Amino acid sequence: MDSSTIASDYPRRLLLGPGPSNAHPRVLAALARPLLGHLDPLFVELMEETKSLLRTVFATANALTFPISGTGSAGMEACLVNLLEEGDEAVIAVNGEFGRRMTDIVERAGATVVAVEVPWGRPVLPDDVKSGLARATRPKLVAVVHAETSTGASSPIAEIAPVVRDSGALFVVDSVTSLAGMPVRVDEWGIDACYSGTQKCLSCPPGLSPVTFSPRALESIRGRKSKVRSWYLDVTMIERYWGAERVYHHTAPISMNFALAEALRMVVEEGLDARFARHRANHRALAAGLEALGFGFVVDAPYRLPMLNAVTLPAGVEEAPLRRRLLDDFSIEVGGGLGPFRGKIWRIGLMGESCRAANVLALLGALEDMLPAAGASVEPGRAIAAAEAAYGTVAGRE
Ligand code: PLP
Repeated sequence: MDSSTIASDYPRRLLLGPGPSNAHPRVLAALARPLLGHLDPLFVELMEETKSLLRTVFATANALTFPISGTGSAGMEACLVNLLEEGDEAVIAVNGEFGRRMTDIVERAGATVVAVEVPWGRPVLPDDVKSGLARATRPKLVAVVHAETSTGASSPIAEIAPVVRDSGALFVVDSVTSLAGMPVRVDEWGIDACYSGTQKCLSCPPGLSPVTFSPRALESIRGRKSKVRSWYLDVTMIERYWGAERVYHHTAPISMNFALAEALRMVVEEGLDARFARHRANHRALAAGLEALGFGFVVDAPYRLPMLNAVTLPAGVEEAPLRRRLLDDFSIEVGGGLGPFRGKIWRIGLMGESCRAANVLALLGALEDMLPAAGASVEPGRAIAAAEAAYGTVAGRE
C-alpha cells in the first residue's frame, strides 16, 4: 500500500477519548468549502457571526471574543502572555497536567508562579485559592482549569470567583474541555480571560482556540509597560484584524473558521441547556454501566466531569492491551492516563457529537464482550441493563 491508499482508507473511529471528539458531517463538509480570502467581505461576515456565536456559548458580552489560530494551548498562552509582564506574579492552581502547563508558560513569560498544588483527581476549591493568594504578594492574576482533562475533575469556578474578585486579581479560566458541554458563564462568574479548544465539546477538528477577554483584562493589556512576549499571540495586534479595522496580522485559517462557525451554529441550534442535559444523561448511563463492570471512578461524584470519565479498570485487567483491542477490534478510541495516572486509568470522553446514547451502549457492549478474555468476570448484559436503567425512558436518550 502506498501512503495515499493508507490515507484514504482510514477507518471510521468512534472517538471516546480526551479529544478530539467526532465531528458532525455538517462540520466536515464546511472544511471542504471553496476558499475565500481572509479579507473577503463574505469571510468578514463569517468572522462577525463567529464572534457573536462565541459570545453566546461563553455567555458573555465581551467585545474581544474570537478564535485564536492554534489549538487550546495557543489560547492558554495567549491569555497568559498578554496579561503578564516580567516581574508579575500569578497564582496558578495545579490539579493536573493542564494547570502544570500554565505554570510553564507563566515562567517563560518572565513572571513568578505561586503554584497551588492540589492532588490529582481532586477539584480546586475556594480554600485552595485562598491559600495561594495568602502566599502571594501582589498577584496579577489567578488561573484555574475548569475541567481537568487529565483527571476528570471539575472545579467549581462560580465558588472560586468571589475569592479571586476580593483579591483584586484578574481571573483566568481554562474551558478547553468544559465549553459547550457544561455551563461556562464568563460574565456572571466574573471571569476576565477564558480560552477553549475546538476539538472537545464543540466537536470541530483541532486547530482553533476560542478566547474572550473582559474590558478589565483589555484595560490591563493596554496599560502594559512592555511588549507582549509573543508576536503571533499579541491580542492588541490580532484585535485589529478581528475588530472593525480589518488590518492584516496573519492569514486566518479559512477552512477551520468555516468549520468552527458550522459547529457553533449546531451548538446554538441544539440549545446550550439541552446540550448540557445530554452530556449529563449520557455520563450517568455510562457511569452506571462501567460500575456494573467493576470500573471505579477517580473523582468523587459531586466533582466528576460529565464529558471526561477518569476510571480505574476492573481488578486484574491490564489497561493498555485492552485499550488496543478496543481500537483494533471495535474501532473505539479511549484515552490512557497521563503523568502519575499513566498505565493506571482510562479517560473516556463523551464530548459533543461523540456524546450519544448509541455510543455509550456500543462501548459498554464492546467491554462486556472483551473483559472475560482480559481476566474479569462479567455477567452478560448487566452493564447495558444498568445503563438502560439510568436512561429511564427511551425518549430520554439522545
Ligand atoms: N487545557 C485542557 C483542559 C485540555 O484538556 C487541553 C488539551 O487536551 C489543553 C488545555 C491543550 O489543548 P491543545 O491540546 O488543543 O493544545
